[in-house]
Amino acid sequence: YLGARGCTPRVRYPVSSIKPLPDPAMARIVMKFGGTSVADIGRIRNVARHVKREFDAGHEVAVVVSAMAGFTNQLVGWTREASALHDAREYDSVVAAGEQITAGLLAIVLQEMGVPARSWLGWQIPIRTDSSHGAARIAEIDGSVLIERFGQGQVAVVAGFQGIAPDNRIATLGRGGSDTSAVAIAAALSADRCDIYTDVDGVYTTDPRIVPNARRLERVAYEEMLEMASLGAKVLQVRSVELAMVHGVRTCVRSSCDAPDAPQFNDGAGAGNLPPGTLICDEDEIVEKQIVTGIAFSKDEAKITLRRVADKPGVAARVFVPLAESNINVDMIVQNVSADGGHTDMTFTVPRADFDRALGVIRAASDEIEYEEVSGSADVVKVSVIGIGMRSHAGVAAQCFQALAEKGINIQAITTSEIKISILIDAAYTELAVRTLHSLYGLDTH
Ligand code: ASP
Ligand code: MG
Repeated sequence: YLGARGCTPRVRYPVSSIKPLPDPAMARIVMKFGGTSVADIGRIRNVARHVKREFDAGHEVAVVVSAMAGFTNQLVGWTREASALHDAREYDSVVAAGEQITAGLLAIVLQEMGVPARSWLGWQIPIRTDSSHGAARIAEIDGSVLIERFGQGQVAVVAGFQGIAPDNRIATLGRGGSDTSAVAIAAALSADRCDIYTDVDGVYTTDPRIVPNARRLERVAYEEMLEMASLGAKVLQVRSVELAMVHGVRTCVRSSCDAPDAPQFNDGAGAGNLPPGTLICDEDEIVEKQIVTGIAFSKDEAKITLRRVADKPGVAARVFVPLAESNINVDMIVQNVSADGGHTDMTFTVPRADFDRALGVIRAASDEIEYEEVSGSADVVKVSVIGIGMRSHAGVAAQCFQALAEKGINIQAITTSEIKISILIDAAYTELAVRTLHSLYGLDTH
């Protein structure tokens, strides 16, 4: 998935954005509010009070909003009901509507509170995307109009999740895409930080629903957050983290449930008063480095095993090329050495959503691949141990395997990178494995 890093949007920095702000205490901030935070007019008023606080403090503010909770699901449902094989351009035209409503409503509420605000749709800025309707990537954002409006004392309320494609039609950025809108806009505006307001108060060492004594991380490095988001933590859209990392956008995950007038703390990093929450930043900004920062898990996996595949050159290609051609991402791969010199077993994982399709592809290619039997299971979970400290510490993996063995948990596949170890296990052991690893690496609250 790191390949996705190549698709960095070209962001233009208008000359005016580089000018120092008149008052050093004044910052340029992007605030993003998710669906639950804007679920009804009452909550939109709460959001407006958060915005007013920053505006009254003298900051330049752009607000990025999602559709009201459940609204996008409803719109997606309607497009499916209308036609199973609908046109992606029309899908975009329908599903982008939710954000338009929230942006207009928030602007109205802000105006009523005496904050000069104006709503902006993707095409009005413009936020230019590529042509992949339904899952578009941001290609370029021209921040000059918004900066001009800041100069006039206005707050910009931007509809998240959308942009304009080269065919001049609305494009959406994939589910959860308004996080990406927010970080990309922060990069285009050279904002001091991007605050992502959500229904949790930050990024945790693991899912607190599974491990009640999980801790909120005060800071997490871009790379760690990228792994966490990719490996199952659902806090941020993966692409938003890639963008934050590439452009060095200091991104703060915080709760919209905090009282808008609650005291803000100062992190002493010169970007104004930082709110409580989790700051996603450069690893140099993290003083207390831990070897392991978090445990992520994903039930979004399925495994496929081929028994007695011919053990000869070219077989792996015959298995994985057809899968790639069908756009199925293979993640973990395990191949045994052959006991008899002629045959081997091979296990790999695919996204659960592609499980049936992948089995179909493998069966269709059975003549070329030459295997005795194919089997699969979606009752698996991938548990990952993440931390930049692993780069300089040996033995993290060994400890992990040992601890799981002591609990009788069988490991079905393993993958590693410089800063993570992922293991595939039976889904029934998810909680036990996550809890065991969480305390093994000293992440429990004391
Ligand atoms: N409203 C869109 C969705 O539900 C985008 C977002 O909320 O980030 O996926
Ligand atoms: Mg979201």
